Amino acid sequence: MLDIFDRLINNLYFIFQRLDWLNLVDLILVTLVFWGILLLLRDTQAMVLIRGALLLIVLISLVTSLEVLPAFSWLVRNTLPALLLAIPVIFAPEIRRTLERLGRAGTLVPSGKASSKTLMSISAVVSAASRLSDRKHGALIVMKRTDSLEEYIKTGVQLGAVVTPELLLQVFYPNTPLHDGAVLVAGGNLVAASCVLPLSSSGVLTRSPERQMGLRHRAALGISEVTDAVAVVVSEETGAISVVHGGRMIRRLDTERLENILLAFYRPLEEKKGLMGFLNRWFSRSRPEGQEER
Ligand code: ATP
Ligand code: MG
Repeated sequence: MLDIFDRLINNLYFIFQRLDWLNLVDLILVTLVFWGILLLLRDTQAMVLIRGALLLIVLISLVTSLEVLPAFSWLVRNTLPALLLAIPVIFAPEIRRTLERLGRAGTLVPSGKASSKTLMSISAVVSAASRLSDRKHGALIVMKRTDSLEEYIKTGVQLGAVVTPELLLQVFYPNTPLHDGAVLVAGGNLVAASCVLPLSSSGVLTRSPERQMGLRHRAALGISEVTDAVAVVVSEETGAISVVHGGRMIRRLDTERLENILLAFYRPLEEKKGLMGFLNRWFSRSRPEGQEER
């Protein structure tokens, strides 16, 4: 036992003796890369998969290191490369999203005219949400920020009309052809209605029935988990207005708070452009926000 300890200390001493500043830079770079990857994957489903894969690799290497199972070792050695090939296929959506996000890092967010259109669409959404809430008409409005919503636009009916409160009231009027599904708003336009969004699995297992979410709220959470869009939900059952962003939901908002929150989401986007804006947005995304609740 003491012998092993001695050898460990000798080895560490050996390594530290040969450590110069270039090695330190080398180590810091590798650490930063791993830190970045873990930050990107934090709170995503990929993290769960990676944890599973790591556990599997450790188990497999333990089993194959035992020379007593030659046939099994041969099987594992030959199937592992195929599993590695499968990773890009399994993670295709995550990889695409990350590359899209990186690609936008240096681009300028439209300003000037676009910002006044955005302000108009925010006030239209706020006014419509308040009236829909009074009437207890269910609604789901998704407002684009930087991530593309193209694949969800395709699932609905494309409109391309200027957003007005009246148009939103009309779309969500019960039992009309477009009332089912989500409305997508981008750059001051109501791009599409009746869109189908991905469902989040969170909220399904919440114990209290009051906290348990129906499909409309889960669809809002779902789109906010895969894009940076902001979703406004009006509940058909209670008339309550909620805002969803980054997988988090703020419930039971009044009109004034809804407007302030939506304005806050778009203001930093138009002020902070380029790489700094990207980094700011990125870090505010990965940090939990105190006021928000699930
Ligand atoms: P509410 O409080 O309004 O009842 P809820 O969260 O309880 O909302 P449901 O009662 O299940 O949700 O609402 C069903 C409605 O949600 C559907 O009629 C449809 O318009 C909308 N919806 C359900 N799934 C999706 C989806 N994947 N994408 C977009 N909209 C959806
Ligand atoms: Mg319901």
